[in-house]
Amino acid sequence: MQRLFFTLSLLLATSSSLDIDGVETTYGPFTNKEQTYVPCYSANSNAYAISSSNNGLCMHSHACRYKFCNSQDAKMNLPLYSVDAKNHTDIIHAFQYAKDNDLYVSVKTTGHSYTGSSTEEGSLLVWMHNYEKDLTFHESYKNSCQASHEKYVEHDVISIGGGAVWDDVIEAVKDDYHVVTGGGRTVSAIGGWLQGGGLSFSSRKYGIGVDQAIDFEVVLTNGTVVNADACTNSDLYFALRGGGGGTYGVVTKVHYKVYPKTAITVVQYSLLASDYGKYWELISKAVAQFFEFWIDKSPDLSNDWCGGFFGPFHLHLVYCGTASEMLSDGFFSEFTAWYNDNLDKSQMVENEWGAFPPSYIEYDSWYEYKGGAGAYQNPASTDQTGNSYNGIESMSARLMPEAVVRERGHDVLELLTSLTPYLGFVNYFLGGKINDVAIDETSVNPFLRSTVWSIFTNDDRSGQTVREFVTNDETGVCYNHHYGLEPDWRRACFGSHYDTLKSLQEKYDSDKLLNCWHCVGYQGEEKESSHEAYPINEISAANKYMSSFNCIMIVSLVSTFMLL
Ligand SMILES: Cc1cc2nc3c(=O)[nH]c(=O)nc-3n(C[C@H](O)[C@H](O)[C@H](O)COP(=O)(O)OP(=O)(O)OC[C@H]3O[C@@H](n4cnc5c(N)ncnc54)[C@H](O)[C@@H]3O)c2cc1C
Repeated sequence: MQRLFFTLSLLLATSSSLDIDGVETTYGPFTNKEQTYVPCYSANSNAYAISSSNNGLCMHSHACRYKFCNSQDAKMNLPLYSVDAKNHTDIIHAFQYAKDNDLYVSVKTTGHSYTGSSTEEGSLLVWMHNYEKDLTFHESYKNSCQASHEKYVEHDVISIGGGAVWDDVIEAVKDDYHVVTGGGRTVSAIGGWLQGGGLSFSSRKYGIGVDQAIDFEVVLTNGTVVNADACTNSDLYFALRGGGGGTYGVVTKVHYKVYPKTAITVVQYSLLASDYGKYWELISKAVAQFFEFWIDKSPDLSNDWCGGFFGPFHLHLVYCGTASEMLSDGFFSEFTAWYNDNLDKSQMVENEWGAFPPSYIEYDSWYEYKGGAGAYQNPASTDQTGNSYNGIESMSARLMPEAVVRERGHDVLELLTSLTPYLGFVNYFLGGKINDVAIDETSVNPFLRSTVWSIFTNDDRSGQTVREFVTNDETGVCYNHHYGLEPDWRRACFGSHYDTLKSLQEKYDSDKLLNCWHCVGYQGEEKESSHEAYPINEISAANKYMSSFNCIMIVSLVSTFMLL
C-alpha cells in the first residue's frame, strides 16, 4: 500500500520522462489507464509485433492488461516505467532506481504469461525484449563442479542470452543439433518458459527445459551478477529450475544442452465433421473409443515417442527417430489395427463426418518439424495471439498422474468423455524421461515427475471438475499453463517445494523488489476462482448441445497448433 501511494505521488509529480543514470532507454511514466494500452491492439494477432510493441507494455492475452487477467473487475495492471534493458548495467541501475524510489520491479521478455505475471501496477518494468541473444555454441562445456563430483556435467551447449525467443534459437541451431524447445516460436527461451519448467514435444526423450540448463547467469536485486549451477550457488540453481520467473533475479544467460540431430516422425489421427452438433451422439461414441485406446496405451509408450498432444478429435504424436524406426516400434501398427478393427465407422457419413486414419510424416530434423527456413520471423508459422487470443485467460491446466490413468482408467475415461466440449486441444503428452529425474533435483512441482498428461480445460467450471477429480493431494498444475485464478495457487503450482522456494526468494531478493502475481513470495491483493464443478453426468448431458460454432473454433485451434 505504501508503495502504491508513493507511486501515485511520483506520477503526479513527474512531468517529463524517466531518466535513470547509466540507462540508455527508459519509457514512462505511464498512466494506468485503458488508453495507455491501446497501441497494443494495432499488432493484431502477430505475436512478434505484440512482443515488441508499446514500450514493453503489451500482453499476448490482452485480458492480462487487467489485474489477475480478469476482465470482470477490469482493474488496469500496467507498470509505471519500463527500462529497455540491453546489458547488466541497465538492470543494475533499474534495480537501484526502484529501490531508491520504493517501487516494485516486474520483468518481461515477451508478455506471454497466461497469468499476467509479467505486468504489475505501478512497478518499474525490466523489459528484456532487446537484450543480447548470444546464441554461440560451445563443445564439451563444463559446469563448475570438479570432474570427480557426482553433479559434474560436460555437454555440448548453446549459450542463450536474455533477449532470445525460441525462433532465434531454432534458427541458430538449424539442422546441426536437436534442441529441446517450447511450442510457440515467440515464447522466450530462458525467461518464463524455462523458469516455469519448460514443456516440450520432445521432453519424453530428453527431459523438460530445466533439465537442459547447465548454468544460469543472473542479475540479483542487490546489484551483483552471479552464476548458478550444481556446484556454485546451487540453491539458486535449484530455484531457477522451476520456481517461476520474476522472483529471484533477472536471468541474462543460460548454457543449454544441445543433442545430436535426430529425424522427427509425426503420427496424426483426426476425427472431423462439418457440423459436430448435428452428429454429436455418434461422434461422442467415436471420441470415447479413441480415449479408451489412448488411456490404455499412452502410459506404456517408449521414450522415443518423445511428446505431442491429444484432444477428443485428434492425436499429434512426435517420435524422435526416422519413420522406419517408428514403424519398428510397434505402436503405429497397434494404432492402425485399432482404427481398422475397433473404431466403429459404420455410421460415418461421407463429406459430413468421419475419421482420418493414422498417418505419418518424417522430418529430417526438429528444425524442419518446426517449419524450416521459411518459419523464421514469419508470423504465419507460429502462434497467433493478441486479438485472436480472447478467452485464453479462462484456460486451466492440470497434471494427470500416471498412476491414476493406469489404476482408474474407467473413471478417467468418464471424465474425458464428459469434458469433451470443454477440453483443450493441446493436452500435453508427458512422462518418459521427465519422470526419471529426482523430485529434489529441480523446483518444478514434484508431481510433474509422475505425470503422464497435462489436461487443459477452457472454462471455470470444467477446470474445477478436473481439480476435484485429481486434487492437490495427488497432483498440481503445470506452472506455464496454469489458470490466473487457480485456487490455493501456491500449493497447486509448487507443491511441497513452496516453503523452500519462499526462503530462497527471501535470501536472493532480501529487499523484496521483485513482485509478480502467482510468483513465490508475491505480496498484494489475492483473488481465486470459486466456481462449482460440473458434476460429471451433467456435462455428459450438455454434450449434445455443443454448437457447431464451438467446433469451428476447435478445428481452427487445431490447425493453429499444428504450426507450433
Ligand atoms: C503460443 C504459446 C505456446 C506455448 N508453448 C509452451 C510450451 O510448449 N511449453 C511450455 O512449457 N509453455 C508454453 N507456453 C507457456 C509459456 O511457457 C508461458 O507463457 C511463459 O510464462 C512465457 O514466458 P515468457 O518469458 O515468454 O513470458 P513473459 O510474460 O515475458 O514472462 C513470464 C514470467 O517470466 C518472468 N520472466 C521473463 N523473463 C525473465 C527473465 N529474463 N528473468 C527472470 N524472469 C523472467 C516474468 O517476470 C513472468 O513472471 C506457451 C505459451 C504460448 C503463448
